[in-house]
Amino acid sequence: LTFDSAFPARTARSRELFERAKLTIPGGAGSTARLPRNGWNPYPLFIEQGQGSRITDVDGNEYVDYLLGLGPDILGHRHPVVTEAVVKAIQEQGTSFGLPYELEIEASEKVVAAVPGVEQVRFANSGSEAVGQAVRIARATTGRRIIVRFEGLYHGWQDSVYWSNHVDLDKAGSAERPRPVAMGPGVPAELEETLVVLTWNDAESFVKLMEERGEEIAAVITEPAVLNTGCILPEPGYLELLRSETTKYGAMLIFDEVITGFRIARGGAHEYYGVIPDLTTYAKGVGGGFPVAAIGGTKEAMRLIADGTYSHSGTYNANVVQCAAVSATMDLLAEPGLYERQRALGDRLARGLESIANDNGIDAYVTGLGTVFQLWFADGPIKNWRDAVAHTREGVFKRWYEEMLVRGVLFHPLQFENLFVSLVHDDRDIDDTLEAAAGAMKVLKQEFS
Ligand code: PLP
Repeated sequence: LTFDSAFPARTARSRELFERAKLTIPGGAGSTARLPRNGWNPYPLFIEQGQGSRITDVDGNEYVDYLLGLGPDILGHRHPVVTEAVVKAIQEQGTSFGLPYELEIEASEKVVAAVPGVEQVRFANSGSEAVGQAVRIARATTGRRIIVRFEGLYHGWQDSVYWSNHVDLDKAGSAERPRPVAMGPGVPAELEETLVVLTWNDAESFVKLMEERGEEIAAVITEPAVLNTGCILPEPGYLELLRSETTKYGAMLIFDEVITGFRIARGGAHEYYGVIPDLTTYAKGVGGGFPVAAIGGTKEAMRLIADGTYSHSGTYNANVVQCAAVSATMDLLAEPGLYERQRALGDRLARGLESIANDNGIDAYVTGLGTVFQLWFADGPIKNWRDAVAHTREGVFKRWYEEMLVRGVLFHPLQFENLFVSLVHDDRDIDDTLEAAAGAMKVLKQEFS
């Protein structure tokens, strides 16, 4: 069993649907992230349905799913409690009113109760939208213009932050003072002046910037752990430093918890790392698989929205589907011991994969936060984007993804993404995955060790 022969034989219907899709959908899928150029060679799988921790494609192949919709499905696919709550709310209430309603208060109260540093919350529709708003709120609040962001992190597709994610280092200048690079055409070049880009986990360059320009800075935005370049954890004290320096210079700190929120702990990075930002953006996990985002903050950070100076508006904000999903999800996440149990399960998988690789003579190691991790095929430690470029062997990762896929395990094909474990994955999923890994690594051993 190897990918080159097994994949086409197993996925004839996906290939057929991809050809059909290309006629009426640009590129053949609803998001560029799903296309061959983003690793899904030679064509993406078309999915029939998901249930719990498993997903089935249109050819009837079942996979243990560690893609989980790119993160949202923290409760697995179509969790019956959330699904029922949403259906019931639609049937009994409707979908959107353009006016407030009680379920919206309930959803906000539960988010506020779950996250230590969130005193108020507004719901929105996507992570990109939430980030765009948070950045503008910070500029409105401080009366300043400059946003600091870091290489290798992703904060969605808004012009203000669609810069220097997986940046080409030939264009990006030195690690001490990187140059902002727009991530695609169509972003106004003059926005470069509104940004400072830094190397993540580098305390020295951050302190130096704040000394030089701290009083021009509206906000520093970061993922609390970099889940958009594999899974890079903050060095001890780094998040605390971002907090103390922003406070010192009157800048706002924004945690982009679109991935980490409600995943690494119920209270996300606030709880896990004990660092409290001014504003926090959520999407993915907050709705248990339903499309909803949120902007949370301290009352002080939300002041301009509360007093009407700043207009945060949106036809679909806090619609019934969203609030029913958030409310039911928050209830499920409150189960005692849930996160500890699933983090331990994720760790068992991560450690298992690492040992199977090493036992087969493949250099690989894991970094992770329990229910999200990455297996790095790398020859050195990775603290930021520049290390990731220097040390990873992306070709090995790609082959690993392929050999796992044909053995019934699905995760993202790129080394710079990660594996998600839901709150409903169980020991049988992990056992099946480790068994598949033993077969896949034997193939990699022949090719790479
Ligand atoms: N922020 C982070 C950290 C993300 O990972 C993403 C998406 O992957 C976004 C923002 C954008 O969210 P959305 O795709 O919902 O617009």
